[in-house]
Amino acid sequence: MQMSYNRVSAEIVAELTSIVGPRNVVVDPDQLYCYSYDEATESKWQHLPEVAVKPENTQQVSRVMQLANRERIPVTPRGAGTGLAAGAVPFYGGIVLSLERMNKIIELDQANMFMVVEPGVTTAEVQRCAQEAGLFYAGDPCSADSSFIGGNIATNAGGNKAIRYGVTGQHVFGLEVVLANGEVLNLGGKIIKEVSGYNLIQLITGSEGTLGIITRIYLKLQPRPKFNGVIMAPFDSIPAAIQLVPKMITESGIVPTSIEFMDNVCIKAAERFLERQLMFNQAAAFVIIELDGNSEVQLMTEMEMLADQCYQNNALDVLVGDNASTRERIWKPRRVLAEALRVISPVYSMEDIVVPISQIPDTVLAINKLSAKYGIRIANFGHAGDGNIHTTLLKDNLTDQAWEEGKEKLLDELYREVYARGGKISGEHGIGAKRKDALARYVDPIALQTMKAIKKALDPNNILNPGKIFDLE
Ligand SMILES: Cc1cc2nc3c(=O)[nH]c(=O)nc-3n(C[C@H](O)[C@H](O)[C@H](O)COP(=O)(O)OP(=O)(O)OC[C@H]3O[C@@H](n4cnc5c(N)ncnc54)[C@H](O)[C@@H]3O)c2cc1C
Repeated sequence: MQMSYNRVSAEIVAELTSIVGPRNVVVDPDQLYCYSYDEATESKWQHLPEVAVKPENTQQVSRVMQLANRERIPVTPRGAGTGLAAGAVPFYGGIVLSLERMNKIIELDQANMFMVVEPGVTTAEVQRCAQEAGLFYAGDPCSADSSFIGGNIATNAGGNKAIRYGVTGQHVFGLEVVLANGEVLNLGGKIIKEVSGYNLIQLITGSEGTLGIITRIYLKLQPRPKFNGVIMAPFDSIPAAIQLVPKMITESGIVPTSIEFMDNVCIKAAERFLERQLMFNQAAAFVIIELDGNSEVQLMTEMEMLADQCYQNNALDVLVGDNASTRERIWKPRRVLAEALRVISPVYSMEDIVVPISQIPDTVLAINKLSAKYGIRIANFGHAGDGNIHTTLLKDNLTDQAWEEGKEKLLDELYREVYARGGKISGEHGIGAKRKDALARYVDPIALQTMKAIKKALDPNNILNPGKIFDLE
């Protein structure tokens, strides 16, 4: 497989300029810097591209790919750069293909409850547009204000509402995709069932820009739930908080929209970031539960049932958010955690493990033991309702060497623990460059072989986002 590439010459820059226009080509290193990193915080996850291009339509994307394929130049697709796995970082230089100019909502089809969008629309804009039409887009990563919908599909982003509505891929029913050789592939459409051949939509979804560039998306919308409420329960022990999660799902008969969890390191970090004192800031953990529905009476009854369950599991109190402002007060500390943890430790490694929900309590206890064993402070938070925990290792004042050595050993033990419990390395952030070595160690070898065969079939010159998910020998 091709792993050494040609450089981007002045002639190639001129050809790229003729395709996308001078305002859409960046070669100045100062301006290229912002295309050299994503939200994986360590400096080893940064690399400058040789050029960035910002095509405005599918035809331009296709022509850029024809050129790159002909000249054997690597291309890294980029959404908003909010990824946490160094997926959009161009480690082989070459071209960053930013989708930022393809930011139109093409159609909101109320009769079929579909929205057709370009990949550079922010997730929040998709949510807003659906809401204005009285409908609902259920994808809801915590990065919604900045991440692009194309990036959400390329990573199959999860988020706050996955427990009830599923992850991003469950809302995607059609895609237009530009392949490595520039061919344009059209899949699905405004149809909610299809078995006309392989499910290529779900193959592209979550492929992290390694199989094709997503240029158009058909999203299924839902009727908007009329009522919504949130409760927050503080606990004075982690086991009490976390044991509640699987019980809540199996015993109540209620499917909440979200069940989120944050430990005391997170509570303190959010407090500092928001510059306000949080109620119950000494608690070992907060559990946040959101519900929605179409009957106010039923919603209130369900909230009371879940509040009772919290008390039965020794919650210190139950706070209720039943209007926009109280809901936001409860959610805000949870939403800001990625930024807030960076304030207390500018270097951290945010992990994304996922385990069956019954395994959450023991997994969290095992993580805390690993923290003590390796002397690395860990913040735990996440989408506990779907078993997805963002175990975040904080470098604090450790030396670079102590950090690197301790982190690698700790993560290896953590992943072993996770796989032994029937879990996986990543629930929603993806593999990117950051976790590819770990994936190679833990994934089913036949699955890895199959992934590589697919990659070789679709991108024989290995120019699309090389070095992500796995290396090709
Ligand atoms: C504060 C914060 C909160 C977050 N919360 C969540 C969360 O709740 N759930 C969650 O899942 N993630 C979360 N993330 C991670 C991140 O926001 C998601 O992975 C998101 O989907 C990335 O979108 P993006 O547009 O920023 O993509 P980028 O970071 O630009 O790219 C991500 C990957 O997708 C590829 N890609 C991007 N666009 C395309 C395209 N059009 N075609 C093909 N490939 C493409 C890139 O090559 C790269 O491999 C969070 C991140 C932050 C900083």
